[in-house]
Amino acid sequence: MAWDLKSGPGPTGRVEPEPGVSETVARVIADVRARGDDAVIEYARQFDGTVDSDLRLTASKIEEIVDGVPVEVRADIATVQRNVRDFAERQLESMKAFEAEVAPGVVLGQRHTPIEAVGAYVPGGRYPLLATAHMTIVTARVAGVPRVAACTPPIRGEVPAATIAAMSMAGADEIYLLGGVQAVAALAIGTETIPSVDLLAGPGNAYVAEAKRQLFGDVGIDLTAGPTETLIIADDTADARIVAVDLLSQAEHGPDSPAVLITTSEQLGLRVLELIDRLLPGMSTRELAGPAWRDHGAVHVVPDLAEAYALADEYASEHVQILTAEPRDALERMQHYGALFLGEGTCVSYGDKVIGTNHVLPTRGAARYTGGLWVGKYLRTTTYQEVTDRSASAALGELCGRAARAESFEGHARSGDLRAALWGNAEPTW
Ligand code: NAD
Repeated sequence: MAWDLKSGPGPTGRVEPEPGVSETVARVIADVRARGDDAVIEYARQFDGTVDSDLRLTASKIEEIVDGVPVEVRADIATVQRNVRDFAERQLESMKAFEAEVAPGVVLGQRHTPIEAVGAYVPGGRYPLLATAHMTIVTARVAGVPRVAACTPPIRGEVPAATIAAMSMAGADEIYLLGGVQAVAALAIGTETIPSVDLLAGPGNAYVAEAKRQLFGDVGIDLTAGPTETLIIADDTADARIVAVDLLSQAEHGPDSPAVLITTSEQLGLRVLELIDRLLPGMSTRELAGPAWRDHGAVHVVPDLAEAYALADEYASEHVQILTAEPRDALERMQHYGALFLGEGTCVSYGDKVIGTNHVLPTRGAARYTGGLWVGKYLRTTTYQEVTDRSASAALGELCGRAARAESFEGHARSGDLRAALWGNAEPTW
């Protein structure tokens, strides 16, 4: 039996977007479809106060912005991008093409080819999320995507210089100072000045996530990566300070970001609650972390780790941190998570900002059917076949004739019949 020291919405109580988000998104998309750039500029003014109607930053403007970013910030961006690139390259290496002669003269193969044009959404309404530029753009480059168009909104009317530097250093071909639904719609549909892309990648707030969902079909999407979620599993060996600080580190993403603790130790849970009450008022981001913890924070006490893992799997949280005596057990015992953080030496902030794994991860239960953004999301996995042995083709033809007729597909059947007749002993019956 589990009991709560602090109740939250629970594993099925997903944070729903505010009422009206879906309607607003549909309206903006329809307008961008009908009026192109004019609509994009109008909405950028309305939602972000953008005044420059030149949506695409020129090369000289980008250079000027990058030059203005402190050298040490640029050095850190380069270091983190190296880590992200290194991990993505290892992922690419794991994606082997293959070709096999499955029967004499029957060759089947599979290959991975990069998508031609990708739109990278780098969020920035509240914070300059420059790390998302590493995750979306560097990974696309490793995959070999030839065209990467990246966008990010201005922050309170200002150009987010460090984000632009990260986008440029990551290798974006086009950079648009544009965010929200209007950016996603412009990239998906295409306008007079923004050519459309084939796939949209990157996280964002509820508007951005809903826009990607509605535009799926016009364009491919990586996954729906909405407002951040975190979940910690801790036993009595965990350090309460680490648990409290790490829960708050994710609650500060936004007032709709759930932070959940599942623990086998009631004492630890009580201590964490006490520490959070003490730490929250001193955080500069308390305006976001406070409501997130109040409305979406939870502390569940469970009798044992088996129940902890089962409950965590029900949540299917974006991030799951394991602070137990044997953290690697989770690799065998958990299924549903965007990314796992094993032991107290690491934390979600490392994944978000520096360590090299991708921070664009599934939210709202999507971890039940997908992992996060990775190099494979930028590749098309396609198959091919060739039959060079005529008797093999004749045998397949006979089988195909029967299989297709079982489905009443006469045309399909004839393709098989013909080969069986040309290169085998069978006579067409038509
Ligand atoms: P954002 O870039 O996602 O959204 C800002 C845009 O939202 C603005 O440009 C504006 O056009 C639009 N917008 C805001 N209010 C609107 C309204 N009322 N009507 C229409 N459009 C409106 O930046 P953000 O808001 O800071 O959100 C970033 C989000 O990304 C956070 O929720 C964070 O948790 C999430 N995130 C998720 C992951 C993940 O992998 N799941 C990773 C990083 C960040």
